[in-house]
Amino acid sequence: MPLLADPALDVVRSPQEVDRLFPWVRQDRLRAIPHFISPAWAIDKSRFDPEAYAEAWKKCGFDSVTLLTVHHDGHYLYPSQFTRCQPDRDYFGEQVESCRRRGIHVIPYYSLSLNSLAGSEHPEWRIRDVQDRVLVPDHRYFFHYHWMCLNSGFGSFAIQQMVEFCEKYDLDSVWLDILYLPPLPPQNRGTEGKETCFCSSCHRAYSEWYQGEHLIESLGTTRHEEFRAETFRRFLIALKRALARLKRPIALSFNGAGRKRHLYYDRVDELSDWLSSEAHHAEPRSLYSRLYSNQGHAFELMSCSELVWSHNVSKTTSLLELEAATTLLHGGTYTLGINHAPDGRIQDSNLARLPAWADACRHLAEQVKDSHPVFEVGVMLGSRISQEMLGTGWWDILSQGQILHSYGRDIQSLKAARLILMASDDVTLEQIPALEDFLRKGGQVYCDGPISPRSPIAQFLQIQVYPADSMDCYYLLPRTAELADGLLSEEPVYFSGAQATELPVDGFEVLADLIPPFARKERLTDIQIAPNFPALKSQKNWAPGLIRRKVGSGSIVAGALRLFHAIGGELRNPWPKQLALNLVRSLLVGQAVKISGPHCLEVVVTRRSKDVHIWILNQLYDASRWIDGRADIYAFAPILLSIDPVRLGLGKLEEVGVEGADLVKQAQGRMEIRFTMKGVCSSFRLFSTSSIASSPTPSKTVRAKK
Ligand SMILES: [Zn+2]
Repeated sequence: MPLLADPALDVVRSPQEVDRLFPWVRQDRLRAIPHFISPAWAIDKSRFDPEAYAEAWKKCGFDSVTLLTVHHDGHYLYPSQFTRCQPDRDYFGEQVESCRRRGIHVIPYYSLSLNSLAGSEHPEWRIRDVQDRVLVPDHRYFFHYHWMCLNSGFGSFAIQQMVEFCEKYDLDSVWLDILYLPPLPPQNRGTEGKETCFCSSCHRAYSEWYQGEHLIESLGTTRHEEFRAETFRRFLIALKRALARLKRPIALSFNGAGRKRHLYYDRVDELSDWLSSEAHHAEPRSLYSRLYSNQGHAFELMSCSELVWSHNVSKTTSLLELEAATTLLHGGTYTLGINHAPDGRIQDSNLARLPAWADACRHLAEQVKDSHPVFEVGVMLGSRISQEMLGTGWWDILSQGQILHSYGRDIQSLKAARLILMASDDVTLEQIPALEDFLRKGGQVYCDGPISPRSPIAQFLQIQVYPADSMDCYYLLPRTAELADGLLSEEPVYFSGAQATELPVDGFEVLADLIPPFARKERLTDIQIAPNFPALKSQKNWAPGLIRRKVGSGSIVAGALRLFHAIGGELRNPWPKQLALNLVRSLLVGQAVKISGPHCLEVVVTRRSKDVHIWILNQLYDASRWIDGRADIYAFAPILLSIDPVRLGLGKLEEVGVEGADLVKQAQGRMEIRFTMKGVCSSFRLFSTSSIASSPTPSKTVRAKK
């Protein structure tokens, strides 16, 4: 079958179809992924107790669990007719039975591309590099297992096994781990020549899919990445078709689904019935929660109850609460990793605190049931893949400014925003009409620099952009008071290592100037002898740094350089962040929620009809250096919030009630509210009194979290 000729409509399921066939996938808000990793050579399995585990999961209220059938070591935890090495007991099957008896759904975990035992028994299935060498597992990092090639016999071997356990046990779904190949050099710490996979099966498949072309010709090109993604796509299609022949429908997802893990992974992701990803830090969990909630399918994010996977030191309970909160607030399922020792035991202290944690999570989920997050800024991620979109600075700046925001892959999913932020390559030519429509209806758009000369956005603006001279740094000097707010007076903002484009002046309002450095710094001592100050106009040409044009009743601003820097790399240089935030605030003209207080407080607003919850998450708690095991929680002094009820869809100021916080005053269309944080995530409620007065069922009021 030629490339992409198979749309696989029989196995690509819409969100509605998944909801109909597998309603529990979306409804189960808490899931566990216990890690019982115990290969054959771990002799002592005396503490393995499937009844006690299932009882513990029941007590925690986990609606579903993801249980290992095989981990990267390749040792199967159930007796498979396709392997020589057999377990002494059906570890997987016994757990399935004890869980199903308690009404808990079981999702089998299957380690796909990493399988050391299959790789040892079938060296011909292992991936090979360009020189036809087996890829040697690298013990210096994660990939210390045999990598398997799905174009080899391993592909059908894996499918047979999954069909086998889905037939044998009471299961509704399959979850795959490691649906990718090692990153290409230099990201895999390798040198050129270590690209994979170039096994004979891959050579054969490539020639078949690309009308006789040769795999070796794809080396170093995006065609090779397309081939790798196509390998996984075809595998998933074959797997889903095999599962479709079983008596009952089986759902399928995999780790990283929806993230576009690598180039062309949109073709792989669309085969997943729900979106799923690990998220161990504030940025990915906030970003993926928002992005996934805009993609239609049910989603889960996961992290561990211990410091990392397969570790024995527990995270603090407050951190578990914070980690689960963002996902639950955005309507997703939170999946918690729980580690077993190889003998089967689980930390008692961990198990003991989980029921209370789960209660708090369920309480939160109940409060946001049938509601949706409110956002005023949308960030376009376009075709960017996961690693690139992390660390771009969007989240740092927006969350620290308490800007209600979301992420999307297209204009359509973000059109509820008043302002859309993007980089020039995030918008395709096909999306330009939707963008223009958004602008004409009064929307604001900011396109971060440097602008790609041939990007659709440059064409839309009908501008020629040129790469500016390559310098060590650039400076931006705001021309408006709004943009200069909080900056040092007349002091240009420094951007290190900045790439810049030269923007036109004609037909645009210039909001900021781009200033090159006075001299290039070549030696360390140049900082003393050739002052590396921003150049005066008489010394070097200034160019536009931020330009704006009106379109309909909206406007679009383009930047010469990347304004949204990741904050982590800019320690002790708060000025770019301040400038970026000023720009967002000036384009928004009135922010829905503002906090006078710590920047570490992230705000999420959820709305159900005219009932609005303001959620405040203490992200400082995620910065591990401040965590205290004993006190476990930071108590802030009461914080002051300024809220615009109209922006939150609540209507007139005088008809808005507050529950769980104190109304200090009402002035100039805004409410000033005093609120005391209780724990790492707490909320208060606003409601329209006019609707309650006319509503026949006022008893539906939700109580604020205590
Ligand atoms: Zn191969």
